Amino acid sequence: MKIVVLKSEVDHKPVAGDFIVCDVPTPVCPTDGVLVRTTHLSLDPYIGSVLRGRHLGAKPPIPMKEPIPGAIVGQIEESKVSGFEVGEWVYSMNGRWQEICPIGGSSIRKIDPSIAPTEAYIGVLGMPGLTAWAGITRLAKVQSGDIVLIDAAAGAVGGTAGQIAKICGAKKVVGIAGGKEKCQMVIETYDFDDCIDYKESEWKAKLSQTLPDGLSVFFENVSAEMAMVALSHANLYVRGVLCGLVDAYHTEVQSQHAINAGLIIGKRANLQGLVVYDYFHLWDEYIQQAATWISTKQLKFKEDRVRGLENAPSQFERLMNGQNIGKAIVTVS
Ligand code: NDP
Repeated sequence: MKIVVLKSEVDHKPVAGDFIVCDVPTPVCPTDGVLVRTTHLSLDPYIGSVLRGRHLGAKPPIPMKEPIPGAIVGQIEESKVSGFEVGEWVYSMNGRWQEICPIGGSSIRKIDPSIAPTEAYIGVLGMPGLTAWAGITRLAKVQSGDIVLIDAAAGAVGGTAGQIAKICGAKKVVGIAGGKEKCQMVIETYDFDDCIDYKESEWKAKLSQTLPDGLSVFFENVSAEMAMVALSHANLYVRGVLCGLVDAYHTEVQSQHAINAGLIIGKRANLQGLVVYDYFHLWDEYIQQAATWISTKQLKFKEDRVRGLENAPSQFERLMNGQNIGKAIVTVS
């Protein structure tokens, strides 16, 4: 059975050459858990900071020993948990980059392949989708008439957040993304009203032009600096969801996450941090709603996929460089 491990400790933005694929014996089924044959592996930006030892509460895996952590979807091969049968489809946040994962009973969720393709459960119906939904409906409480700005808009969280904002009645949803192809996809596939390419030199002027009436909500995925750009366009009493700081996960000099307190006071801003764990108890409710939106084509998703566990390192390097267009996934089997 294949697993992927780090060759040695990393103190830089991880690249494909930091990983190695090894063959190891198939693990035994945990006494209180299941063995899952991984069909799809999720690659998520925060794993980059876990590997560098920068993620609060998560230890980096031991090089040449412990497989890289990652959420998985797969089928049960063996079960020691009542109610979980061989052949059933499950999701776990506690998966690993390995073909067959031992998973404790408390961290598996059954999934329903009749609602959406199984791989959707690590993207739009998985942790990124739940994050987007929680931020838009529970924190920002987007409603009719809102004008919403979202960065990393081509990704799983940003793209889903924008579409849910529209479903909630937002008058206008504007994205920010890196590159022409991503911006086109955000507008054409995710139906945002506009998307600004921050890699263009005139992007700040274009952002001002597309927001003549300011904004009432922003959803921050990238950095404190980008949040301050959003805030500079904000109307009074703006609601800002601080979801991620992906830019800071990879900088060599750790960002101080500088904020402009004067701007926050002046705008009477309500800024709220989002941690998706707080919403796990609402996951089933979200899936029910999202499944309806998917069936009515109000909620679309795009995946950036490679096949084969041995290609996980190069796909991860693409994610680390922001080259993914949509949810980064590895189809393992
Ligand atoms: P994405 O698929 O959006 O991938 C990350 C994107 O970030 C890249 O494609 C890139 O898009 C953008 N980016 C901006 N600056 C950089 C940089 N310096 N290096 C690499 N990428 C950069 O990821 P997700 O949709 O999975 O996640 C989006 C955000 O949500 C992340 O910050 C993530 O950590 C956060 N998150 C937070 C959760 C929470 O509980 N708070 C839970 C889940 C995710 P572009 O080229 O358009 O800039």
